[in-house]
Amino acid sequence: MTRRSRKALIIGAGIAGPATAMFLTRAGFEAELYEAWPYSTGIGGGLQIAPNGMHVLAELGLADDLIRRGSIAESFDFYSQGGKKLGSLNRNMQERFGQPAVNMCRATLCETLIDKAWSSNVSVFFEKRLVKIEDRGDQPVIAYFADGTTAEGDFVIGADGVHSVARRHVIPDGPTPFDTGLLGFGGFVPRAMLEKLSIGQRMETTFGQSGFFGYGLCSPDPNEGAMWWSTQPSRGMTAAAFRLQGQDAIRQHLRDFHAGWHDPIPAIIDAADNIVVTDTLDVATLPTWSRKRTLLIGDAAHATSPHAGQGVSLALEDALRLGMLMRDGQELGLTFQAFEHERRPRAEKIVALARRNGNSKREFSPAGAWLRDHVMKLMLPLASKGMDFMYAYNPRAA
Ligand SMILES: Cc1cc2nc3c(=O)[nH]c(=O)nc-3n(C[C@H](O)[C@H](O)[C@H](O)COP(=O)(O)OP(=O)(O)OC[C@H]3O[C@@H](n4cnc5c(N)ncnc54)[C@H](O)[C@@H]3O)c2cc1C
Repeated sequence: MTRRSRKALIIGAGIAGPATAMFLTRAGFEAELYEAWPYSTGIGGGLQIAPNGMHVLAELGLADDLIRRGSIAESFDFYSQGGKKLGSLNRNMQERFGQPAVNMCRATLCETLIDKAWSSNVSVFFEKRLVKIEDRGDQPVIAYFADGTTAEGDFVIGADGVHSVARRHVIPDGPTPFDTGLLGFGGFVPRAMLEKLSIGQRMETTFGQSGFFGYGLCSPDPNEGAMWWSTQPSRGMTAAAFRLQGQDAIRQHLRDFHAGWHDPIPAIIDAADNIVVTDTLDVATLPTWSRKRTLLIGDAAHATSPHAGQGVSLALEDALRLGMLMRDGQELGLTFQAFEHERRPRAEKIVALARRNGNSKREFSPAGAWLRDHVMKLMLPLASKGMDFMYAYNPRAA
């Protein structure tokens, strides 16, 4: 079989999936992308792509378009619940790391990646939910889908996210995602709400005695051009339980939780609609990322909680690095091992850092919150240096 005819079955059209499909196509492979859900342009809340992720998007020829459709974040400013400034991180990202940090709607990023994959000779199939992988000797690998159909290929890339089904094939009795005990709420409000505050392109974030709130511009859209999110201890509730209660009850919960927080937080909550609620899970480490001809990438291999703002960027880095290693034409098993060997230390370090960052958003006593705020004021410059390794990574040179 010639290398050109080798076909990758890529499971999951989130972030890692379409990016991997494009890098594999460039490396001379055929790529088929299978997504569980129908094609949709309105999924998820807002997110921030760090400079290291933007480098990969630039490599795909998408950075300029996404900067236009998103909003550059010029800094991450921290405040106390009462509105006192604690400090600032992530200034001058473009100058320091060659790309800016960019806020955008998750839907914009996903749609852009899928459209580009389509026009890069990737075959994309929706409503194909993987249920099982079969890998027998020298036969093609078979992916089985919930609708009763199958697909055959030379190898499988499991890019199916934190609840990965491909992971169950790779590690049948492996660990399940860890619930960090925090819940995320998020959505969009009209740009004008933030524009009138003159915060420009800064992200403003607030540590409460319990929980965290953030907001910033994320697109030129007047109706949904500002994103916000709230992180809080789950106190025994799940995201699914909140979703069942409906939007009005969720909004009321947020009003109560953030009552007395500084402006414009109460007004943002009042204006919020279509609020997305998510559990905060991570996958700190797995015994292996591959088995025979199946490899896990992105959140399937190393899901990170959002508190380092790196999940998307890690997924994009994975895609680029895998494409480069596959291009070298080594035996598949060796390539998968080389990929894991290279990527695992960085990914696991960032998952651990994100979990530590999440700890400062838990429940504190009044004295504990006061102390945390004061320590933060002193430590932010140091913490900032400790985060540079994430942004300075250049996947082309790794
Ligand atoms: C609330 C929240 C906020 C976040 N904010 C940020 C942020 O600001 N910056 C950042 O960098 N990261 C952020 N992250 C993390 C980031 O979203 C993930 O790390 C990133 O999406 C991982 O990409 P992925 O492609 O591996 O997985 P996903 O984006 O989850 O994509 C997986 C895809 O696989 C599909 N799929 C699942 N199961 C199957 C199946 N059985 N068959 C076929 N398809 C399947 C899914 O439908 C999905 O489309 C955030 C995460 C959360 C929860």
